[in-house]
Amino acid sequence: MRTRSAIFYGPNQPISVEDVELQGPKTGEVLVRVAATGVCHSDYHAVDGHINARLSPTVMGHEASGIVEEIGPGVTAFAPGDHVVFTIRPMCGKCKYCSTGRWNLCDGIQAKRGHMVDGTTRFKKLDGTVLYMSHALAAFSQHTVVAEWNLVKVRNDVPIERLASLGCAVVTGVGAVVNTAQVKAGSAVAVWGCGGVGLNVIQGAAIAGATKIIAIDIAESKLTFAKQFGATDTVDASKNDPVEAVMDLTGGGADYTFEVIGNPSTLRQAFDATCPGGTACMVGVPPSGGEVSVPMELLFRDRRLIGSSAGTGSPRVDFPWFIEMYRQGRLKLDELQSRFRPLDEINEAFEDMLSGEVARTIVRP
Ligand SMILES: [Zn+2]
Ligand SMILES: [Zn+2]
Repeated sequence: MRTRSAIFYGPNQPISVEDVELQGPKTGEVLVRVAATGVCHSDYHAVDGHINARLSPTVMGHEASGIVEEIGPGVTAFAPGDHVVFTIRPMCGKCKYCSTGRWNLCDGIQAKRGHMVDGTTRFKKLDGTVLYMSHALAAFSQHTVVAEWNLVKVRNDVPIERLASLGCAVVTGVGAVVNTAQVKAGSAVAVWGCGGVGLNVIQGAAIAGATKIIAIDIAESKLTFAKQFGATDTVDASKNDPVEAVMDLTGGGADYTFEVIGNPSTLRQAFDATCPGGTACMVGVPPSGGEVSVPMELLFRDRRLIGSSAGTGSPRVDFPWFIEMYRQGRLKLDELQSRFRPLDEINEAFEDMLSGEVARTIVRP
């Protein structure tokens, strides 16, 4: 079928929106009409070369929700009309990690980067050139074909476009707090970086019952969003030393700190701002080959430095409770969607993100 998609041709080049050819679903695959796709910093990390560029040309996008239009052979868990949310990691359901509730670490599905598991892709340019698929999802597209292990079926009485960010920003942020760090009620939390994921760390901390939630950023607009999402205090790191500020506000260090930027110096700050027995949790995507050093006396104070990948999430367990919390007004999803744009404005959508004016821009393909 003919569809329309946003294509990445290489670092520092504009994204191109084009009509393309999409093959139908093969065994175990599902054709989805995409309702909404969040514009995520990890898409941009390839565009600006922060991480080694993915294959190109690639149909971009990974944070999305949609409606099933057609199922391939062997698919039993989904039917046309089902509402679905994409997951950024496949879930085989059989490996050691899936079997122990660490679905984010699943290693049971081996696919080449940018490809479906059979080593091919479902997208071609109209001249026949193969198009790779970001995260095997290719969600900046009116339609896409996704393996069923990358989908979670959700209730269909919640507006499907509101759920676009569950599979990336929400699970990565809220999951880092609730699943990875397991923040306790009454804790003091500090968060470096208040973009889409950082705001979800902040609202995750509020949901977990943290009583002090310190938001740190260099953009005033992002600190304003942070307050909406539950921050009790804000620190403008362009004007103040954030480690000193956290030490002052907490009387000796935060119980949990989260670094949501992916920068060695802010990760070190997050570590330095923990109290004895505290935990620094790394959430931001690091640059390729990045390293951080921490003082070896970490042992004397029982401090921990941990990583959180995709929120240590089990999407088929986590997404339903996220949606329930949203229905109860306790998880902010509407407020996360500051601006909607059509697919043709994908480059403007990235500019929105870089400007810091939006919590998230959502593309409606
Ligand atoms: Zn993402
Ligand atoms: Zn698995």
